[in-house]
Amino acid sequence: MRLVKIKLAGFKSFVEPTVIPVTHNLVGIVGPNGCGKSNIIDAVRWVLGESKASTLRGESMQDVIFGGSENRKAVGRASVELFFDNSFNNVAGAWSSYAEIAIKRIIQRDGNSNYYINNIHVRRRDITDLFLGTGVGGRGYAIIEQGMISRIIEAKPQELKTFLEEAAGISKYRERRHETELR
Ligand code: ATP
Ligand code: MG
Repeated sequence: MRLVKIKLAGFKSFVEPTVIPVTHNLVGIVGPNGCGKSNIIDAVRWVLGESKASTLRGESMQDVIFGGSENRKAVGRASVELFFDNSFNNVAGAWSSYAEIAIKRIIQRDGNSNYYINNIHVRRRDITDLFLGTGVGGRGYAIIEQGMISRIIEAKPQELKTFLEEAAGISKYRERRHETELR
C-alpha cells in the first residue's frame, strides 16, 4: 500500500481545494515558517482517525476547519482524502480487490464527522481495521514525529512490544482475539 495523493479542502490553512501528489518514495515538503507544512501531516493523521485535538495542535476538533484569515471568511467544513495504490492487494478483507483505496473524512462546524472508503460511508472502526498491521494509522509508525525516536529508545518493554507487534503485523490478531474474548 502506497500513499499517492492527498486532497484537502477547508482543512486548516488549506481553504482552497488542494491536491498534493506524492509521486516518489522520498518526498520533501519545504517552505517558509507557517506556510502549512505541518498542517499536511496533521491532515494525514486526522483522516486516519485521530481523535485527540491536541495531537493535531488544536483545542477542539473543529479547530481543523479553516477559521478565517484577514481577507477570507471561515468555512463550514473540512475534508481530507488520502489515495492509496493497492495494486499489490496488500489490504485484507472487503477492499482487497480495489486497485485504489481512497479514505476520506469530513467534519462540519457542529462537530459531526464522517468517514468514507471509496466514497462509501463507513465507521471510524472500518478505517482503523483497514490499516491495522500495516504500520499506517494511529498506533502505527508510518508517521515519525519529532521526539518519537527517543520515545522508542526510552520505551518501557511493554510499549516497545506494541511497536514491534505492529511492525510484525501481529497487532490485528491480538485486537481480534481481544474482541472475541469480550463477546
Ligand atoms: P514551521 O516551519 O514553523 O513548522 P509550518 O509550515 O509547519 O511552519 P503549519 O504549522 O503547518 O506551518 O501552519 C501554520 C499556519 O496554519 C498558521 O499560519 C496558522 O494560522 C494556520 N492555521 C492553522 N489552523 C488553521 C485554521 N483552522 N484556520 C486557518 N488557518 C489555520
Ligand atoms: Mg511545522
